Amino acid sequence: MQPDNRIRDLVIVGGGTAGWMTAASLAEHFRGSGLKITLIESSAIGTVGVGEATIPTIRRFYQSLGLRDLDVLKATHGTVKLGIRFDGWLHDGSSFIHPFGVFGQDLRNIPFHQYWLRLRAGGEATDLGDYSLAVALARAGRFTTPSPNPPSTLSVFDWALHFDAGLFAQLMRRTAERAGVRRIDARIEKVETDAGSGHITGLLLDNGDTVRGDLFVDCSGFHGLLIEGALKAGYEDWSHWLLCDRALAAQGHVTSPPPAFTRVTAHKAGWRWTIPLQHRTGHGYVYSSRHISDAAAEAELLAAVGADLKMAPRRITFTPGRRRQAWKGNCVAIGLSSGFLEPLESTSIALIETGIEKLKQLFPAREIDPFLVDEYNDWSRREMERVRDFIILHYWLNRRDDTAFWRDCRSVALPDTLAGKVEMWKRRGHMVRYRWEMFQPASWLAIYAGFDCLPDGYDPGLDGMDLPSLSRGLAGMRKGIADAVADCPTHEEFIDRYAKVD
Ligand code: FAD
Repeated sequence: MQPDNRIRDLVIVGGGTAGWMTAASLAEHFRGSGLKITLIESSAIGTVGVGEATIPTIRRFYQSLGLRDLDVLKATHGTVKLGIRFDGWLHDGSSFIHPFGVFGQDLRNIPFHQYWLRLRAGGEATDLGDYSLAVALARAGRFTTPSPNPPSTLSVFDWALHFDAGLFAQLMRRTAERAGVRRIDARIEKVETDAGSGHITGLLLDNGDTVRGDLFVDCSGFHGLLIEGALKAGYEDWSHWLLCDRALAAQGHVTSPPPAFTRVTAHKAGWRWTIPLQHRTGHGYVYSSRHISDAAAEAELLAAVGADLKMAPRRITFTPGRRRQAWKGNCVAIGLSSGFLEPLESTSIALIETGIEKLKQLFPAREIDPFLVDEYNDWSRREMERVRDFIILHYWLNRRDDTAFWRDCRSVALPDTLAGKVEMWKRRGHMVRYRWEMFQPASWLAIYAGFDCLPDGYDPGLDGMDLPSLSRGLAGMRKGIADAVADCPTHEEFIDRYAKVD
């Protein structure tokens, strides 16, 4: 008989958002298989405790665990996020929304934005946001869940949540523990490795116990306790592309009515987030320590929102970049231990979701196949680079001239992958898509248009179009959206009716 080569004991280190999401999802996936999952966290160390804005993939994630939108909104004191409003990023006074969902309607296999550009070239410049239901809802402060059978693609939009990350981790913990995950509250003092294979064999805890396992998932956050502390997987520093490396996080009073979008406001050496929850408003300043001192950054934050704060801001330091090998030996890093870009566009929790998905797809046997490890690392690298490029674009396209920070952002040398994309956009209005793109063409379009970076021309296939009928067609789209929005409840009414915390 063949020896049983299956992984039997899986150990997750860390009980932040990453640890509990991983535990809940793997427990559900391996239900009934005999896989034992243990999670070790230290309540004395605590978690990062930010991460309040998400993207729509989070809904697919918790739905796969049997959780419903309204229950999660309620359990996490959440609100609806239809997109992000960028204030002052292009120049002072500028504002645009990056929505979740498409703009307009593609026709004859030609993307909508080509029609929009054609009309523009013909002398009628309309606001791209008027062709997005998510933008229209966000601007009007209204919300309803998307129709399951939309009458047209004009009604297609998506939404995500603003939530209390601590409450979300607790929800994940309850889900994981119900599915049989064992929790140990202790500090790991030493990581034992096998001298021959380099694999992790056990974790020594401060209570004197040793926890053994076949496979370890490092969710220890910036500590990278296993993946870096023990296995020295290495870190690729991207701070020459992404200048922000600090954040000040604080909480303020409730915003009424709560906007259904995250607000990100340009500041002297970075940007400030405003995230409305049902019981508080999250505020934070993300900045570059090369361009402003911590004290000056705090003074800037306090000048903007100090009157609203319920607490002194907490400082968090990070190095934008990624772990060179997110999977090394018998250890897979998920969450902040695998890297962090910065909070803009709320990608970190989404990267936790895809990390878990990849691990499920490539789940190894006890004798670990190096092919699977290489695949995981290759997918992770590509995915993280695609997200990195998208974030860099936001800074690179700014036209602010007030501080060295914004000028330096403009003079960053773009990675080749991004430079090629931008050229194709400028020359042909074409969206290049690579594998492992987290952000779809509509998101890129929102950023290009929001920063007024538009191609000179349009698809020549539209040269023969009759401009007056194109103009009427697009006016019809705008009206259809405006009419649909007018019938929706306000975001506040929606929360009060369906997801209000008692
Ligand atoms: P942590 O929350 O740090 O958890 C680490 C865990 O490891 C803890 O349980 C700790 O106790 C445990 N641990 C560490 N060392 C030991 C030890 N020796 N023994 C035992 N246990 C140990 N993401 C988003 O998607 N949206 C956002 O809006 C967003 N905003 C952010 C803003 C800022 C300023 C920052 C820094 C991050 C933000 N993120 C955001 C990222 C998000 O916070 C993280 O992705 C998420 O919280 C996951 O963190 P984690 O679980 O990897 O690490």
